[in-house]
This record gives sequence, structure tokens and C-alpha cells, in this order.
Amino acid sequence: MKCSRCGRRLLLSEKPLTCPSKDLGRLDIVYDYEAIAESINRDVLSQRSFNMWRYMEFLPVPSRDYIVSLGEGGTPLLKARRLGEKLGLRNLYLKDETRNPTGSFKDRAMSVSVSMAVYFGFKKAVIASSGNAAASLAAYGAKAGIEVYAFVPDFAGYGKIAQLLYYGAKVFKVRWSEAEDPTVKMMRILYEEHGFYPSPSFGVFNPYQVEGPKTISMEIVEQLKWMVPDQVFVPTGAASLLTGVFNGFRDFNMVGWINRYPKLVAVQPEGNHPFVRAWRERADPMNIRPWEKPPDTIATGLEDTYPWDGDAGLKALYTTNGYGVVVSDKEILDSMKMLASLEGVFAEPSGAAGLAGLIKAIEEKQVDRDEVIVVLVTGHGLKDPDIIRKTAGEPPLINPSVEEFRKVAREFYGVLA
Ligand SMILES: *Cc1c(COP(=O)(O)O)cnc(C)c1O
Ligand SMILES: [Zn+2]
Repeated sequence: MKCSRCGRRLLLSEKPLTCPSKDLGRLDIVYDYEAIAESINRDVLSQRSFNMWRYMEFLPVPSRDYIVSLGEGGTPLLKARRLGEKLGLRNLYLKDETRNPTGSFKDRAMSVSVSMAVYFGFKKAVIASSGNAAASLAAYGAKAGIEVYAFVPDFAGYGKIAQLLYYGAKVFKVRWSEAEDPTVKMMRILYEEHGFYPSPSFGVFNPYQVEGPKTISMEIVEQLKWMVPDQVFVPTGAASLLTGVFNGFRDFNMVGWINRYPKLVAVQPEGNHPFVRAWRERADPMNIRPWEKPPDTIATGLEDTYPWDGDAGLKALYTTNGYGVVVSDKEILDSMKMLASLEGVFAEPSGAAGLAGLIKAIEEKQVDRDEVIVVLVTGHGLKDPDIIRKTAGEPPLINPSVEEFRKVAREFYGVLA
């Protein structure tokens, strides 16, 4: 492992979590690609069952005995014909991460993270999260018998909190008044002063979990029969997902199974876009400015005011010739409706932000109609009952009479029945 800030090298056997130089660098995992390429090839891989642990050689968990799994990964890549037609695209795909055990892609990260906690022998884990990562950690913690402490912002969606409480986590809502993320502050105290296993979904405090999401890219490549898509749209908060998605394509390039990258596109909401701002300013990856205000968006999974893995995320955009786009809450809501009504995929706002980003990119003439486009749909619609209640509306109430049905169908839905 190699620190992203000071370059210090450590071995996995030293069981490191953060850089001993205390420089808030991320301990990037360095793989021996030659050894991997000798031990496995595409044919051997294709015989394994379709879940993320088929990529074991590319994951840090030292043996199958430590794996804590709820059946994460192995999600479908859906060809979006109706949506594609509407947007004028011929090859549009949705990677449906809503199908994961707790309803978001964070399960890939937390499955790896909790497996490592078992390997290290931890009994207590702590997380700072606006919801999905905590819900996921709580589920895997329950499965492994590890106690989970979760600090969530006071405005976190109740759907996620309910999930956390059911999985048996000890949940604390933390008041958010200053720009500094107070949930991260609390997590650091329990890690640094009380020896808890830190398991947030960003790499600076846990270098292992970020490896999980890279299996998304590996699956996409296999599902496209070893073709690399042209562009991949990634909803972005801490930029750990973006980093993981890049790393998946990187690993397959390194073992020679593919030979190019897709453009990676980071999508952030108007009310919190420190990462896309940094990209627009061509910022130095090591000096990204945090967002100055508390986040203001319905996309509660994208509320990181400081993109902890933004350094690796920016490099991923620079390396793949990718770019960033910013979308409004209204555009996110419209995308939720389109995903559900045209393709049968129900996403939460953060989960639909990738599609909003694609629509924005089409408007900005960044997309060609023949390109192979993949949109990551990262979290399930039922995760956020507060938002759906406010935006779905109420259906009409009728008496069981054909006349009334006809009348209301016309008046309410504008259809002739
Ligand atoms: C966490 C999350 C994201 C963003 O991932 P980051 O690694 O924070 O950039 C996107 N969508 C959903 C549903 C999430 O929960
Ligand atoms: Zn360091």
C-alpha cells in the first residue's frame, strides 16, 4: 500500500487503516498485476458465478474464509431502449445498482470493508454517512456480528435511518452548523481515541472499501462482451465511487484484458458541487476547496462538502479525458420519473443524478448518438420515502362505477378509457 500524500509504503500484513504520518493521505493498494495475469485469465473468470467475488484476485481480502456477503454485486446491465429513443441515443445502458442487498452500490464497498474487519479481528465499527453507506455497514455488521456506530447528519432521510435502526446500528443524528462535516469529526474521535474500526465509504479513513465498487466496471466490461463503453456517468459525492470505477478499468487494462478507458463523467448537484468546481478550475488534485455552505439538494447521497477521494477522482477525469456536469434538483426529479416510467427502474434522487448528468451532457454536445453510454443507477427509490411522498402526488379516489372511472380517467390522467 502506498500513501497518496507522502508516498510512504506499507504492507497489508501490517494491517494499516490510515497513513502513520497522519497526513490524511489515502493508502492506495498496489497490486502485483503480473502475478494476477499468471493466476487467472478471461476464460477461467467466465466460469465463476456472476457476483463481485468472482474478481477476488483484484480485491484485498486475503482469503475466501473472511468474506462477509449478502449477495452483493452481479447486477444487471439493462439496455434502455425507450429512454434511448427519447434521448436520441442508440446504445444506452443502465447499470442497476438498486438491486444490491440494502438498495445501493455501497454494499460492494461495505462487503469488502467488513470482510477486512473480520480479518483484522475488530468487534466495533464506526461510520460517518448521510445514509446509504451507514445502512450498508449496519447490514454487513449484523451479518458478521460486529457492532456498528453510525453518525448521520440531522437532515438525513428517514428511510435510511429506519434501515439503520432495523439492522441494529447505534445511530446518532449530529447537528450540522459549521462547514466542517460534524459526522466525520465524531467518527475520527471514535477511531483515533477509542480504537473502533473506521468504515466510511471514502478511502482516507478506510482504504479497503473503495476496492469494492471497482467491480462495477469489471462487470460492465464483461456484460458488454469485453467491450469498453465510450462514456460512464457517475453520481459523485466523496468521489470514492468515481475512484473505484476508474480503478476497475485500470486493473483490467493492467492485466491486458482491455486496452482503453471510457470517459468518466462526474455528476454533482447544484447545491453541493465542490468536486466538479475543482475540475472546472483544473485544480491541483491535492488542493480541492471544500464547499463553503451546508449542502442544499434532494440528492442526500451526494452531500459530501469535501470530496475525500477527490484527488484520485480528478486524476481519473484527467486520465480518461472525462468531465464534470452539474444538475439541478428539478432535473434530478425529472430523471427519476423518466427512469421509472420508461425503463421500470425506481431510483432515489442520488441514484438518478447520473441520468440527469447525461441529459445535461447531451445539451452541452458532449455525447454522440452512436456512442456506448452507461449510466450508473446507484440507489433505490424506496430509500427516500420523504422525497417520494412530496413528489409522487396522490392518486384520485373513486367509487366503483364505470361512469366515474371514465370521467376521472379523462380529467385526472387525460386518457380516454
Ligand atoms: C454514496 C452514493 C453516491 C456517491 O458516491 P461517492 O463515493 O460518495 O461519490 C451516489 N449515489 C448513491 C445512491 C450513494 O449512496
Ligand atoms: Zn502519508
